[in-house]
This record gives sequence, C-alpha cells and structure tokens, in this order.
Amino acid sequence: MMMPVFRCNICGVGNRSAVKLSEREGGLCSNCGSNIRLRSVVLALSRALFNCELALTDFPNLKTVRGLGFSDSEIYARPLERLFSYSNTYFHREPRFDIAQSDPARLGLFDFVICSEVLEHVAPPVERAFATLRALLKPSGVLILTVPYGLDDETIERFDGIADPRLVTLDGKPLVIGRDPEGSFIVRDDIVFHGGPGATLEMRIFSESALRSHLENAGFANVAFDAAESPEFGVAYPGPCSLPVIVGNWAGNGGVLFSPANTGELLEEFVRVQRKLLAARESRWLRLGRLLGLGPKV
Ligand SMILES: [Zn+2]
Repeated sequence: MMMPVFRCNICGVGNRSAVKLSEREGGLCSNCGSNIRLRSVVLALSRALFNCELALTDFPNLKTVRGLGFSDSEIYARPLERLFSYSNTYFHREPRFDIAQSDPARLGLFDFVICSEVLEHVAPPVERAFATLRALLKPSGVLILTVPYGLDDETIERFDGIADPRLVTLDGKPLVIGRDPEGSFIVRDDIVFHGGPGATLEMRIFSESALRSHLENAGFANVAFDAAESPEFGVAYPGPCSLPVIVGNWAGNGGVLFSPANTGELLEEFVRVQRKLLAARESRWLRLGRLLGLGPKV
C-alpha cells in the first residue's frame, strides 16, 4: 500500500500525490478539492488560534468563539460553521457585507476574521477595507489574510487617478469607466479578472511593504507573513510572494484563544463540554444498569 504523501488539513483525508509547487490554486485534495491556498488559510488559522498545527477535523468545538469570513470557500466555511459561531458573508449576495463600509452592529465582535483573495478587488481607497478588518476584531482577535502580492516597492493600482471606477459592458466587452481629477471620462479596456470574467475585477497588485504599512496604519501591531510550509498538510509555496498573513495585536505566543481575555470563556466551554459528557455517560450507564437490573431505582 502506498503511504499518503500529505493529509489534507481540511477534510483529514490522505492524498497519495505530492503537492506541485507551481500554483497556489493547485495541489488539489482528491477528496474535498481544497487547493494549497485554502489549506494554508486553515493552517494559519490553527497556528493563530491554538499555536499548533491541527487539521480542521481535529479543531475543538468552541461555539463561544466568533469568526467572520469574506466570500470564504465553502470547503472550509462549512466545517467552521459547525465548530465556531462563524458566518460567511458576500459582497454580491446574502448574507451581504461590503468590506469598504464598516457595519456598526458587528464592530469588535470577532475572535477571528478570514479575508482571502478579496482586497485586490476592493474599489479604492483600499484603506477603508483595512480599517473595517481591524474594527471587526476583538482587541485580542486575529485576521487571517491572503492576497496576491509582489516584492516591488509599491502597490500597482490598475486604475490610479480614476475616481469611482466602474465595470461596464459595451458590445459584450468589459470596460472600466471613471473620471479623472478634472472630471473628464476615462475608459479603460486593459482589465484583469480573477476566477473568470465577472465581479472579480483586479484593482491592484499589492507590494509586500505596502501591505504591511496598510495593516500597521489600520492599528495592527503584529503582522506575520507565514512562510512556514507544512508538507504533511499539503501546504508548500513556490516563492516568497502571496504568503498567508497572520495579523493581530496578540501578546505572547500561546495562540490568541488562550489570551487572558478568552481564558474565562474557554474554561466555561470546557466545563460545559465536560458536564455534557458526564451526563451522556451517566445516562448510558443508567440505561445499561436498568437493562441488567442494576443501579439506582428511578
Ligand atoms: Zn481535503
């Protein structure tokens, strides 16, 4: 029997083929279809929350922990919904969340936020989106971020100097129109889509240093580009760009869930789970006892 080459850290199934290093969107799991990027998000989340590398199938069930996703892949969003008080949101459908507009009802609520391959599509000024991400998190919360970035000095803004760039279709051809600072119309047809034509217009390619600055300016003290691969979980990177980023204001290295702010809640959760287990065991023994004519008469 061939040994699995990697164990998918999302579905837990062993894969016999090795991960190819050419493509972050490649290296698919034969069972759940996850790619390297999706597994790297879950790996970064495990490192951030627990300070260790767990497969999603081994994450503890902690409903007191609140998470939010922006157009997260169903492949890991479904398990996250079961494990945590997590909800996924979308720009174009319900449940909606526009990352460029902060939502006062949700500020400061979340232990973790996942924002994967979103910020390159957000209309400028992109600073609003970074501010929203910071504002959503609890002080101890953590952001797991992926975005395509390069190592140039500066971000390449595709529509720099165009106010309110909008995607339109003319004779079946997608175009971006907007106005220049003098108010004249500008039309551009040199546009790039991600994941096929549609709503995922590429607005920019970040530079690593600009990404760090955006995050620090939004109020994050810790910005960690997570270059550590995990071949056993099928996470490997072809180069130094576009790595997952773990972002927050955590202190120490116990994992954000084990920060002093969360310990009380976790302890309550632990006690609750233990009571449930005890109750389940007791009722099982009672039933068994009755069956055998043993135990307390009730
Ligand atoms: Zn899988």
